[in-house]
Parts: sequence; structure tokens; C-alpha cells
Amino acid sequence: MAASMASQAVVRALRETTSKHRLFDKFKCARLSSRRWLNLQEYQSKKLMQESGVTVQRFYVADTASEALEAAKRLEAKEIVLKAQILAGGRGKGLFDSGLKGGVHLTKDPSVVGELANKMLGFSLTTKQTPKEGVKVKTVMVAEAMDISRETYFAILMDRACNGPVMVGSPQGGVDIEEVAATTPELIFKEPIDIWEGVRDDQALRMAGNLGFKGPLESQAADQIKRLYDLFLKVDATQVEVNPLGETPEGQVVCFDAKINFDDNAEFRQKAVFAMDDMSESDPTETEAAKWDLKYIGLDGNIACFVNGAGLAMATCDIIDLHGGKPANFLDLGGGVKENQVYQAFKLLTADPKVEAILVNIFGGIVNCAIIANGITKACRELELKVPLVVRLEGTNVQEAKRILSESGLPITSASDLDDAAKKAVASIRK
Ligand code: GDP
Ligand code: MN
Repeated sequence: MAASMASQAVVRALRETTSKHRLFDKFKCARLSSRRWLNLQEYQSKKLMQESGVTVQRFYVADTASEALEAAKRLEAKEIVLKAQILAGGRGKGLFDSGLKGGVHLTKDPSVVGELANKMLGFSLTTKQTPKEGVKVKTVMVAEAMDISRETYFAILMDRACNGPVMVGSPQGGVDIEEVAATTPELIFKEPIDIWEGVRDDQALRMAGNLGFKGPLESQAADQIKRLYDLFLKVDATQVEVNPLGETPEGQVVCFDAKINFDDNAEFRQKAVFAMDDMSESDPTETEAAKWDLKYIGLDGNIACFVNGAGLAMATCDIIDLHGGKPANFLDLGGGVKENQVYQAFKLLTADPKVEAILVNIFGGIVNCAIIANGITKACRELELKVPLVVRLEGTNVQEAKRILSESGLPITSASDLDDAAKKAVASIRK
């Protein structure tokens, strides 16, 4: 448990740093930003909000067009809003590969909801926040639409600079908040929350006022803000974002959209929340790797990197780059490694058709190099490895490990250090 928690933290840190890292900039590795914390679909987040007394629209969820049509009729609303469920924002302005424009549709005629859902379900929706090929829609939300007289932005997030949660709000909501921050920073309001004290009444009211809620709407918004904070704490969120937090002409403050991110380290006490994660939008290789307690990150090149530790992973990728190669991926073994994990790791790495060589770079601190060596030889034999394999091992029990590799009779190129290993891996492809 402790080891897996530590390695999760390492991967998170790695992804944060690598996203700014020159190597990854060069390879434009968008996949690095894929999945850092548990994400839920809007409808799942709204269920959690309802349980905390946060105001959301009445809704149903549908996986087929006929279910969507049924739901639209059952709502008996004067207007319906149909929303594609994907783990990305900007749906309103998105585009389906069915030709349908917009992942959020309003209609007064419930009988067209089936046809609309037909152009959403099974099709990919591309938005500013998705990969360019889009994300396939498997579920839609059918909700009672409400008139919106004003859209604001509200979020609570864990903020390193504040050493705790902070509320962020803007009276300019519904739109891209990054753009508001860039063009009119004076319209972004921040309010750090004391983790022991919680959101104070005066803070909630000040934020409600800054968001532009007036009269009775101000105290209603303040109440919603406090409930959102209760939810933030209750579910171990790292972020609760509502864009838009809107007001209706009838005088209601409503959360029209919802995005909640969760702290993966809280999984042990948030079983119900984590059980909602269907992983269907995660990279299948990452998901498979996670099953074996391995961390896999896909890149664009052709040299697979098999390493332990985030620092070593980055150094390995850098040195490959330095010698004119490109990493295809890296797989982080973590600490208390078993022979079978090494085998599974090789299986994952070799399943990628881009991989033309494998570079193993392990520093045996906690890890016993002999276990790695045994795992490698077993994998080479059973998987009938077809690509060149370069191995650099150092640290605990390395002499025994080298003996195992050399006596195996397998075509393994051993390397004396990191530089040598990278050179040999790059050269093995050039041959
Ligand atoms: P996003 O584009 O992925 O962020 O999806 P949203 O849930 O935020 O919806 C996009 C936009 O659709 C919102 O900013 C609203 O302007 C509009 N919208 C969503 N639900 C309703 C609704 O019930 N009534 C009205 N009038 N507009 C809505
Ligand atoms: Mn939104």
C-alpha cells in the first residue's frame, strides 16, 4: 500500500514536471495530460452534488436513443437539454463526427430528443479539451432545461500557493475561464479557505457578491457555495468546478455544469466514489499496467523504456533523445517489484507495434537486480522477444543479476552505464 501510494505521487509529480519538460514539448506528447486523478462524468458529479443539497436540474441518463426519448417525455419539462457525457469541457461548442454541432442541445420538443441522441451516441465529440480525434460518446444526460439570466464561474480547488483549498470565482461565467483570466484578470476573485475553520459566512457572502448575485440571490448563492465546500471535503476532491453557476429569472441559483476531480490517495476511504470510475476513457495500456501496479506512459518514438523511478525515467528519455533516438513509452516499475511484474511489463512494452528496441534502466535501491534479471530472462523466453534488448542494471545484487543475464544465453546487450545504454539502444535500431 505505502509503496503504491508513493509511486502514484511520483507519477503525478512526473506528469506535472514532464508536461513542461523540453523533451515532451518537442514530442508534443499530449497523452501526458490524459489522466491524473479520478474524473467522473457530469451526471455522476451531479448525483454527488444532489446528495449534498446543491441545486442541479432534474435529469435522467441514457445509453440509447430510445431511452433518451423516453426520459425526455418522462421529464414533462417545458424545455429539455440533452448533454453528451465525456470527461472534457467545451462540449457546448464541440463537433461530432456525425456532423452534429454542439454536445449540448436545447429543445422545446421532446420528440426530437431521440434523433438528436442518435447523432451523439456512438459518435466522437471533439472539443477544445479533447484529443483532436475526439472522445466517443456512450452516455447522454437528458435534463430539464432552465432559463438562465446570468452565468458565473465558481470553483474550489487545492492550491499549492495557498497551502490548502481556495475558492475562485468570476461574474463572467459560462465561457473559457482561462480567457477571462488572461483578458480581464480583475474579474477573477480568489478566497483562500482555512482548512480548520471552513468557509466562513462572511467569505461565502463576499464571494457571492463578487459573483454578482444580488438581494435574496446573494444569500442563496452563499449557501450553495458552503454546500459545495462541504461536498469538496466529503469526497476528498482536489477540484470542484461549476461553470456556469447560473441564476434563473425565477430567482434560483443553479449548478448547470459540474466537474469534480478526486485525490487518488483517498481511494481507500472513498470506495463508493471510485467504484463509479468506468475507466473507459483511459488509455487501455495505462489501465492494464495499473492492474499490475505498474505505471505506463505512452510516447511517440520507438524505444521502449523500462525503468524504476520518475527521475530515472526522465533521465532515460533525455539521454535517448541526446543520442538521436525517441522513446516509445516508459514503464515505471516502482519499488517492491516481483518477477511476475517484470514479465507483465515486458508483455505490455512489446505489445506496442511502434517498439523497435527495449532499454532497461534499473537502479537497484529497494529493488533487487537479480529479481529483475530473472524476470527479464523469463519474459525473453516466453514472449520470444523479437526486438533488441539493452540492459543497464546497477545497485543491489547487481553482480548476481549480470551473471543471470550472461549465463542465460539470450541475445541481451548489456550496458555499463546510462549513456552507454542509450547509445546502444539507438544503434540497435539503426543497424
Ligand atoms: P460545456 O460546454 O462542456 O462546459 O457544457 P455546459 O454544461 O457548461 O453547457 C454549455 C452551455 O450550454 C452553458 O454555458 C449554458 O450556456 C448552456 N446550457 C446548459 N444547460 C442549459 C440550460 O438548462 N438552459 C439554458 N438556457 N442553457 C443551458
Ligand atoms: Mn461548462
